[in-house]
Amino acid sequence: SLYNKLLELQGNIRVFCRCRKSLASSCLEKTDDQEVVVIQKGNRKKFQFDKVYSPSSTQEDVFTGTLPVITSCVDGYNVCILAYGQTGSGKTYTMMGSKENPGVNIRSISMLEIYNDTLNDLLTKSPSASLDIRVQGKAVSVPGLTQVQVQTETDILSVMEMGEKNRKIASTKMNIQSSRSHLMVALEVEGSDEVSGLTSRGTLTLCDLAGSERISKTEAEGQRLVEAAAINKSLTALGQVFGALKCNALHIPFRNSKLTHLLQPCLSGDAKVN
Ligand code: ADP
Ligand code: MG
Repeated sequence: SLYNKLLELQGNIRVFCRCRKSLASSCLEKTDDQEVVVIQKGNRKKFQFDKVYSPSSTQEDVFTGTLPVITSCVDGYNVCILAYGQTGSGKTYTMMGSKENPGVNIRSISMLEIYNDTLNDLLTKSPSASLDIRVQGKAVSVPGLTQVQVQTETDILSVMEMGEKNRKIASTKMNIQSSRSHLMVALEVEGSDEVSGLTSRGTLTLCDLAGSERISKTEAEGQRLVEAAAINKSLTALGQVFGALKCNALHIPFRNSKLTHLLQPCLSGDAKVN
């Protein structure tokens, strides 16, 4: 359903599909560079994308394909890349990659996690009691959130590593799996126009969403059920935002969840969204 809403937002929003599982053994069929057919109970349903990456596509292919969108933050755009799909579909692999196969977000600065609608700073060992969202005009910020200045790729990699380590420590302490929380990495990018000499500042937000699979009440209880409800609520809120954007609604319900509230600057104005 998110997919359908996204499709109608094309222009400002690009939707890429990356197929992880072998196409031959699954219910997916890549018909061309922009179409995937999903075969379910004998029915064939076509889905169009800006681009479809097959299982043989490399991290490099995906990175190169999204580069024009990513680099437009240098021109002052707010760019956001959302990885959506069920657990195991390759969101984290695509966003974070590994040392040998880095993903798209090896250029970042602040890192936070949204777990059960609570914000956790991932770049500090001594997290402040609670992080909240502050709105000032069009800007949405998280006061107290650690921001690390980076200059080189090595800087960025070590900051990311620290964030991932903190995320692991926190999730182990609280007995949660990282796929049950949303991860957000934000990078401030400055670029200068060679002709005018003007400097522009944009943000690149990389968001590795929690798994989209539905978890029924019979499958989960206690903490798992609370998690599932929080994920469901935030992903539904995201869907509603896309729905409202699609029909140019006057009111876009950004504030229904912390996820959509934080994404507001990326999803409004002249932002570019993936
Ligand atoms: P998600 O974050 O969507 O839950 P992961 O990114 O953790 O899924 O992927 C699940 C597993 O599959 C990981 O072990 C990952 O390394 C592997 N994987 C995902 N996508 C690919 C791919 N395109 N090529 C090779 N391995 C992949
Ligand atoms: Mg993941």
